[in-house]
Amino acid sequence: MTFAHILLQWFEENKRKLPWRNETDPYKIWVSEVILQQTRVVQGIDYYHNFIAHFPNVNALAAAPESEVLKVWQGLGYYSRARNMHVAAQTIANEHLGIFPHHYDEIRKLKGIGDYTAAAIASIAFNLPYPAIDGNVLRFISRYFGIFDNIALNKTRKFIVEKCRTLILPDEAGTFNQAMMEMGATQCTPQHPHCENCPFQSSCFASIHQQVENLPFKQHNITIKNRYFNYLFFIHQQKTVIQQRTANDIWNNLYELPLVETPTAEFDIHSFIQQQNIVCEDDPKMAWETKHILTHRNIFAKFFVLPVTKIPKLTQNQIVIDLKDFKKFPVAKITERFMMRLGELKSNITII
Ligand code: SF4
Repeated sequence: MTFAHILLQWFEENKRKLPWRNETDPYKIWVSEVILQQTRVVQGIDYYHNFIAHFPNVNALAAAPESEVLKVWQGLGYYSRARNMHVAAQTIANEHLGIFPHHYDEIRKLKGIGDYTAAAIASIAFNLPYPAIDGNVLRFISRYFGIFDNIALNKTRKFIVEKCRTLILPDEAGTFNQAMMEMGATQCTPQHPHCENCPFQSSCFASIHQQVENLPFKQHNITIKNRYFNYLFFIHQQKTVIQQRTANDIWNNLYELPLVETPTAEFDIHSFIQQQNIVCEDDPKMAWETKHILTHRNIFAKFFVLPVTKIPKLTQNQIVIDLKDFKKFPVAKITERFMMRLGELKSNITII
């Protein structure tokens, strides 16, 4: 039996039942793929159902306001992916008459769709023979063939794509790709892969040469930057101030409390309010301090509660809202966590 036939037989017997498993609608495949880039399958299922319930097809997504898309996406992180999906849906609605493109190159041109997602959609929806190489496939293939090159590098990825081109079954490209990803996700797992009952055990380089622990080889060259965020939670007559992030930065277009970013952890709230002529009825308090880890940044955040005698002068991107409406706005995870803590904080914040 060939590699592909062993793989497909294993897949037939072992595949997980997932809501998008027999799906051929490119829109739904796209949604599932983008969600799975954000979260594990178990959590992803609920997000998938919720997203499809809100936006059942590409035209519904295109027509929705961006803030609604971000709100539905809330909790998944990487909001740029949701924004890109929204823009891509509008491109399909405006330039493709609302019909999802059927060719790899056209799919690949859509905003936010990279090689992997384009190949997954093209193969699963249209059975086009493009290998879809995600982290699971990189791991499985580098172990199977004994590839010791750094899988974080593009040239290694390209080499593995070419390897997979020689393996893919043109008539069953979609099933082949799903089987490759499933093999990496459930059998050839990052920790403790199940070599003892793997159908490739007798031909797998890593298993034969006891190199499973050493593969894949991955080395990142990432600099992590620390950022220091000081959030101001103004309270006046059951109202507060929020602002929309507009700069070309993390969490673009999401809402948050007014923010003072400082170069170090040092921030003197008393000097700050004095400089800004902000008058508080009570002493301002730091209500919560946390560290939030993103891919390339550590965010050290402090949340200060300021019971003010009047709402301070607003900047262009700030608005005043009723406290009870806070949860209606799309916010980043860190703000969501602060909002969840507000219940616990109420006893210490007498004005709420
Ligand atoms: S034998 Fe082990 S390392 Fe090789 S493909 Fe199977 S699970 Fe992965």
